[in-house]
Amino acid sequence: MRSEMESDILRVLVTEEELRARIAEMGAELYDRFEGKDPLFLGVLKGSFVFMADLVRACQVKSDVEFIAVSSYQNATVSSGRVQITHDLQQDITGRHLIIVEDILDSGNTLAFLRDYFMTKGAASITIVTLLDKPSRRTKAITADLAGFVVPDEFVVGYGLDYCQQYRNVPYIGVLKPEVYSGK
Ligand code: 5GP
Ligand code: MG
Ligand code: MG
Repeated sequence: MRSEMESDILRVLVTEEELRARIAEMGAELYDRFEGKDPLFLGVLKGSFVFMADLVRACQVKSDVEFIAVSSYQNATVSSGRVQITHDLQQDITGRHLIIVEDILDSGNTLAFLRDYFMTKGAASITIVTLLDKPSRRTKAITADLAGFVVPDEFVVGYGLDYCQQYRNVPYIGVLKPEVYSGK
């Protein structure tokens, strides 16, 4: 496929084939944990939208989907530490078994904030699923219950993850060339 963005990618970290295989495994694992429990897949926008679409189809349990949108980066490549809800839940989650679906767990600020928020809203249980885990940069005591891939401390894009709202449609996970965020 032709791509206008390929020349901005330093190297591919996770290929499309690796994503497909791992997400199939993750779906099967969630099936075993949530069969008969009617879980709610809760995607954290915008970064999780591609992963969410593939994960819910890889896990054929009776379930529904919901989204929340948060922002903490404001176009920087490191977290500001402050998390703001920009689009809130559209349904009551009291008594629900939540499967939080995130693109990447980095400092842990976002998920620490959301976990507390969903507890106050009365969730019955919270399971954190993240496609990527960058444990080297964690500042909050938070771990994923299920993670797709551990990644090094580099800024990655693709498969939903952006830089300045772009590159979300790159079909694999790649490291962005540093000159892209210093130049332009
Ligand atoms: P945290 O709050 O754990 O520091 O970061 C959570 C959010 O920051 C992620 O959901 C993601 O949107 C963004 N983020 C963290 N690391 C990266 C990265 O390497 N690339 C991109 N594109 N976003 C990241
Ligand atoms: Mg995210
Ligand atoms: Mg982002």
